[in-house]
Amino acid sequence: MKYNVVQNYINGKFSGSADRYLDVISPLDGTELSKVPMSKKEDLDAAVAAAKKAFPAWSRTTIKDRVQVFFKFKTLLEKHLQELAELCSEENGKTIGESVAEIEKCIELTEFATSLPQLITGELLEVSRGVECRTEHAPLGVVASIVPFNFPAMVPMWTIPNAIALGNCMIIKPSEKVPLSCGRIAELLKEAGLPDGVFNIVHGDVEIVNAICDHPEIEAVSFVGSTKIAKVVYQRATSNYKRCLALGGAKNHLMVLPDAIPSMTAQNVAASMSGCAGQRCMAASAMIAVGNVDSIIDKICEEASKIVPGDNLGAVINKESQQRIEKYISEAEAAGAKVLVDGRNSKVKGKENGTYVGPTVIDNVTPDMAIAKEEVFGPVIAIMRTKTVDEAIAIENSNPYGNAASVFTQNGGMARYIIDKASAGMVGVNVGVPVPREPFSFGGWNDSKFGVGDITGKSSIEFWTKLKKSTVKWNAEAGINWMS
Ligand code: NAD
Repeated sequence: MKYNVVQNYINGKFSGSADRYLDVISPLDGTELSKVPMSKKEDLDAAVAAAKKAFPAWSRTTIKDRVQVFFKFKTLLEKHLQELAELCSEENGKTIGESVAEIEKCIELTEFATSLPQLITGELLEVSRGVECRTEHAPLGVVASIVPFNFPAMVPMWTIPNAIALGNCMIIKPSEKVPLSCGRIAELLKEAGLPDGVFNIVHGDVEIVNAICDHPEIEAVSFVGSTKIAKVVYQRATSNYKRCLALGGAKNHLMVLPDAIPSMTAQNVAASMSGCAGQRCMAASAMIAVGNVDSIIDKICEEASKIVPGDNLGAVINKESQQRIEKYISEAEAAGAKVLVDGRNSKVKGKENGTYVGPTVIDNVTPDMAIAKEEVFGPVIAIMRTKTVDEAIAIENSNPYGNAASVFTQNGGMARYIIDKASAGMVGVNVGVPVPREPFSFGGWNDSKFGVGDITGKSSIEFWTKLKKSTVKWNAEAGINWMS
């Protein structure tokens, strides 16, 4: 085992043990990295108690002082960028380049948190002579964040800096598949000066997630993961009267029009479907070829063929995922789709125990096939053909998800039409992965998100705080009027 057994992080210390552990395996080559504890409700209780104890002092610290921790944390992320990227790559399977980009995104998210004092100013108005109304954003208390495997550092960082800079104390439940990066984030937050108890980690699975949703002293729960579990978490947390924002899975459509710039389109489509081995909730998974775009499809195949597992393509998370992805491809082929570039049975020399799927381009997919409708979460693009833009939009709209949609065209009017008609929270024009960068917020529609608002950017202020409204009169002579 390469690293020590993972422990929970409670009140500024790594501690505890469990009756049950799961292996943490590197998808890159099958190396056993560590073991992760499946904690019990009592472990969560200890973390909540620590967070509750830390809350009065942390919430009374001014936001200008709170964000000083994140200025220092940003420099620590920069200093440890390479080391963090290597850890992220080892536990998740993505390439080092992708992991470096992930940590760079963590730095950007931290930068945003340091700007919160500029954004959180309340409002004040003299509503009648001598009487002022004022609003302030107050922290909620103890909050929780439940995260998936596909971004071991970035998705935790969607919630950690904003929730904490806004005065909350947090408990995070990392994915049991990638528990290591969060531990390193905890160490760096402590080094940056975050007081003990403000940030805590409890590892585990369904038992801890349920305990978070039920815990009477947790005020808000954010969740990022599959739609199936997002629905369960949203329902359970809100039925316990908690605030909840639950982001789910995705099936993102790219529409390619005949006037699209061929080489740029091909590069973007190939990068979108294969980046992070297709394990991004913003990855292109379905492409709708509108009219004759055969020459662009040829170029997409050329680009896909330059993507090599173990070189510029990482591994998928585990064997189960590898088999699931290959099954989607085989079933589509059996139903009449044409596999133009085939990533099945990929092996990387010297890393035979790694779990790789090569880039896969499948043409002549029909909208009724599972590969066209379901989230595949692998480096696979399913191409459907339509004669018109409206038919393409109808396919996109009929999908229950709604994270992202993109169009490739040089026609501004058509691009605007598709922005209006796409049923997705994030739309791209000539961009394969339309992730809004800070300060713009991230969040899908439909079955890709349950709850109000978005998880990052300015929208997160509303989620992690509650408004205090005060009406104040200091002047005894102020008149009494109809609303006094
Ligand atoms: P997942 O839903 O399996 O797991 C997410 C979290 O829920 C993990 O912490 C896991 O331990 C926990 N969990 C798993 N099963 C549970 C259960 N039965 N009850 C309670 N909790 C449970 O997701 P994943 O496989 O880790 O991540 C991939 C999914 O996340 C994909 O669907 C992807 O699209 C989605 N995702 C969405 C976004 C977004 O912004 N919408 C971002 C990243 C990932």
